[in-house]
Amino acid sequence: MGIDGGGLTPHGVLKRYFGYDSFRAHQEEVINSLLAGRDAFVLMHTGSGKSLCYQVPAIISPGTCVVVSPLIALMQDQVDAVRELGIRAGFLNSTLYAGEAYNVEQAAMNGELDLLYVAPERLVTAEFLRFLGKTKICLFAIDEAHCVSQWGHDFRPEYLKLGILADMFPDVPRIALTATADEITRRDIIEKLRLENARHFVSGFDRPNIRYRVELKQNEKAQLLDFIRNEHPGESGIVYCMTRKKTDEIAGFLKEKGLTAFPYHAGLDKGTRLRHQKEFLRGEEVIMVATIAFGMGINKPDIRFVAHLNLPKTLENYYQETGRAGRDGEDSEAWMIYGLSDVAQLQQMIDDSQGDDQFKRIQYKKMEAMLGYCESAHCRRQQLLGYFGEEPAGPCGNCDLCIDGVETVDGSAIARKALSCVHGTGQMFGTNYLIDVLTGKYTERIGRFGHDRIPAYAAGKELSALEWKSVFRQLVAARLLKVDMERKGGLRLTSRCKPVLSGEQEFLLRKDPVVADKPGERRKKKKGRLSAAGNKTAVRGECHSGLLERLKSLRLELAQKNSFPAYVIFHNSTLIEFATTLPDSLEEMENVHGVGRKKLERYGEAFLDVIKKYKRELTGIEGE
Ligand code: ADP
Ligand code: ZN
Repeated sequence: MGIDGGGLTPHGVLKRYFGYDSFRAHQEEVINSLLAGRDAFVLMHTGSGKSLCYQVPAIISPGTCVVVSPLIALMQDQVDAVRELGIRAGFLNSTLYAGEAYNVEQAAMNGELDLLYVAPERLVTAEFLRFLGKTKICLFAIDEAHCVSQWGHDFRPEYLKLGILADMFPDVPRIALTATADEITRRDIIEKLRLENARHFVSGFDRPNIRYRVELKQNEKAQLLDFIRNEHPGESGIVYCMTRKKTDEIAGFLKEKGLTAFPYHAGLDKGTRLRHQKEFLRGEEVIMVATIAFGMGINKPDIRFVAHLNLPKTLENYYQETGRAGRDGEDSEAWMIYGLSDVAQLQQMIDDSQGDDQFKRIQYKKMEAMLGYCESAHCRRQQLLGYFGEEPAGPCGNCDLCIDGVETVDGSAIARKALSCVHGTGQMFGTNYLIDVLTGKYTERIGRFGHDRIPAYAAGKELSALEWKSVFRQLVAARLLKVDMERKGGLRLTSRCKPVLSGEQEFLLRKDPVVADKPGERRKKKKGRLSAAGNKTAVRGECHSGLLERLKSLRLELAQKNSFPAYVIFHNSTLIEFATTLPDSLEEMENVHGVGRKKLERYGEAFLDVIKKYKRELTGIEGE
């Protein structure tokens, strides 16, 4: 139990150690259930506050809570962060020297550790189990529990052995935590970790503070730069790319433009990857350009945006990746651009994959759901949550479609022209050629093939080339057309186009909003909505931005001195509250969200001095 954790209630611990006033959904129930000795299975989304669920009982109960985590590279940071809260913590993994490991084990055996982080492969060694036998253990917390499942995306065979804890420590409660939700993985976790008697705590999937936006890809670099510069200047974010090559290229491009950006992908050596990860975790205005290799366990709370330059394969992936934004509960953005070439690329990947027909069929279904999300004409959040089986009460008001809307028109006649053009030219040409035919352009190729004499020639002059592009993309997304990679990306008809051709079925077309028009205008809209969404900390009064800047630089200085990330000291929301309420004393400071006892002792005075100085200057100026 913590320095004086014994005798405290869960609420007392929440306030004293974390500086928070109330528990979030499920936290208190999980804690009480564990304190009563019952196992728990916790499936809650990223940023929902899962760690607190085992940290609080670890502080209250006598003995050590063993936290199993696959994220060796992040253990030091995790331990630094909880130590700053006044929790007695250590870790054991292969990065420690024998002497250091010995000291940590001794501390645990002497009852001086609330939390002990270990890698799964170490936990199941005979030596470690012997050590556990000599130590008072109050709880086992199995983090990233989906790693036990071969169906999950981060399978770690070592996790399979964790089931033995049930036999060896039948009286010690165990808690498994994950944010990965599909049914197979969930069943696997329960079975493999032997948690049949665990109580289940499952939260909804909604991340209300994340705004979803999808735009058409036109010039991806320019669009990305515009997005970062205009909408997230000075903020941290992740940019996901499909390939390693593109990751390097985009990171280089952003650097050229004066931004702090690092690439991250499996092709970089381990040392470089670690260095880039550290830069990202510690920095305040750092952009990580990454393949999907990056992300698990990244608990940086202030990631303000996640940008996708390519379509993720599935909505599950998309949800996981975008979920890394806004763990601190503040407004964040999930932004994606995509175009026809992305659809073709995905389709190609599925066709080329090793799996059997059944596998490919499932992949196609998943891709379809992903495309449905992109081409949706109503609330994206409803679409996304619907995929996970949830039914939100209504449109969210915090996605591009809710805010900007999108117009749909009956595009059946247009679709028929496009399809007939594909048919009339022999189902072998790509969009550019087809558009030339439809708009009645005369090229040497068109002449050579005699396509100026088919009915579709010049039959589509009412739309511009750009508009036709959008039509073809939507036809492919709806799988009325298929991109045939064996024929250099030519478009083919599929069986699905029959009812549209025969007029039995209507084809709805989205009118693509003109992309990247007047970024300033978007921002105004965005600002207006942010307060409407009501996600900002509910503090009365104006935030003194001059003071906020000074508080931030103090935080940076302190963080650098201790060499840990700035947010470990105070989150942005805490600094904003300081700069808004201007506390006069340490007592007043303690009422601020995110200020616990230990942090108050360590940093309170320093921040208070800055606030007082600022106030004096302020009154000085006003008095003149
Ligand atoms: P998860 O592991 O579920 O992704 P974390 O445990 O990292 O989430 O918590 C996300 C953020 O929410 C952290 O910054 C944490 O301090 C904060 N948090 C957790 N519980 C509460 C609470 N009851 N009130 C306010 N903030 C909380
Ligand atoms: Zn919406």
